[in-house]
Amino acid sequence: MSVTVRFAPSPTGNIHIGNVRPALFNYLFAMQNNGHFVLRFDDTDQARSTKEFADSIETDLAWLGIKPDSIHRQSERFALYDAAAQKLKDAGLLYACYETAEELERRRNRARALGKPPVYDRAGLRYTEDQLAQFKSEGRTAHWRFKLPNHAQGDPFSFQRTEVHWDDVIRGRQTVDLASMSDPVLIRADGSYLYTLPSIVDDADMGITHVIRGEDHVANTGVQIAIFEALGAKAPEFGHHNLLTTIDGEGLSKRSGALSIASLRDSGYEPMAVCSLAVLTGTSQAVEPAQNLLELAGKLDFSGISKSAAKFDPTEVGQLTAKIVHALSFAEAKQRAAALEIALDETLWDAVQENCSTIADIALWAGVVTGPVTPVVAEEDTEFVATAKGLLPEGPFDETSWGTWTKAVKEATGRKGKGLFMPLRKVVTGLDHGPDLKKLLPLIGHQNTLDRLS
Ligand code: GLU
Repeated sequence: MSVTVRFAPSPTGNIHIGNVRPALFNYLFAMQNNGHFVLRFDDTDQARSTKEFADSIETDLAWLGIKPDSIHRQSERFALYDAAAQKLKDAGLLYACYETAEELERRRNRARALGKPPVYDRAGLRYTEDQLAQFKSEGRTAHWRFKLPNHAQGDPFSFQRTEVHWDDVIRGRQTVDLASMSDPVLIRADGSYLYTLPSIVDDADMGITHVIRGEDHVANTGVQIAIFEALGAKAPEFGHHNLLTTIDGEGLSKRSGALSIASLRDSGYEPMAVCSLAVLTGTSQAVEPAQNLLELAGKLDFSGISKSAAKFDPTEVGQLTAKIVHALSFAEAKQRAAALEIALDETLWDAVQENCSTIADIALWAGVVTGPVTPVVAEEDTEFVATAKGLLPEGPFDETSWGTWTKAVKEATGRKGKGLFMPLRKVVTGLDHGPDLKKLLPLIGHQNTLDRLS
């Protein structure tokens, strides 16, 4: 069977690292199986969905290396949903209800007080002509509910335990009892669709074979399988993964800007650091940076996904990024730096690689080499620096110059260790940390060094 999967974000905000998890589980699964990956914007909520968010989701996915085989917008597919809704109405499976939100809340409270499950009682199937006329005169419009197959044959009011099962590709055998659920609203009173029906119609129409999504959708799946059946369509396979949370167990909301893909990109983090973290956290695999998505696809193993929350520490993105940058070859680094309009040569890379936490850090060290730099000299070091200046070896510098210089300064001043090296580093680079000066000094050059010592 050829595999077709989809990622179905609603373009109502920027995607964050938690959304990348289902996007990548689907994408990597398609890669593993030579399948298709569909990006499908769940934008039926036209009041909250925007083109800008959809565009930025596409940009974010592209930055992560995710290339959809096709892109669809549900807002362009209403004719299909209308046809499916009509089919369900004709079969008596989609029925009109007129309760207001307050009325429903009252009923749920009453049911709870009586110790009954707060399940909708299908009052919509019992309205009298008078009631319907009353609703109409009040200007109410209907919302539409799907009649779940959770009742005795021919009697929708006789609820009975009705199990729906599926073999979840991540969680194993799952069972949901449809009698414990209210008939889902598929169409709101303003005529707009909730996510459920369009998603099912599209999954069937697009030949989606596997739906991999967060475990917050487990209960929906029982209902959705029933609707697939009512439409005469074959339900796909389902897999529900644990959700990423912060260390405190807090969920990631779409609005939590700090972990949005755009902000991680702007902070200079590597896309493969984000991808590796999003996929490997909360699995049996070590969270190590993969070189590329193909390598990460090789690590994807649904059976290794933990059943509990996938806690992650946002600072890990930085640590993984640094690991990736430290392992780059010169050719790779040069190419990456060029994209940021930073010219990189091999000696500079060799000197600064270990001190770059991101590619953008190359610019920082390049600036230290070429200047301008504000030399830092503590008052008590003024004389020491003046002595050091007088002992600076002749140019041009090579990798022995730093050793020659510090040896001479040590002999002249009696200083050693940090007391010897730190004032020199601060005056020459303006910083109290950085790359090995043995390598940096030849890049800074004799004249620049002399100038900074003055
Ligand atoms: N738009 C839904 C979500 O982001 C899609 C769920 C699904 O994959 O079916 O939660």
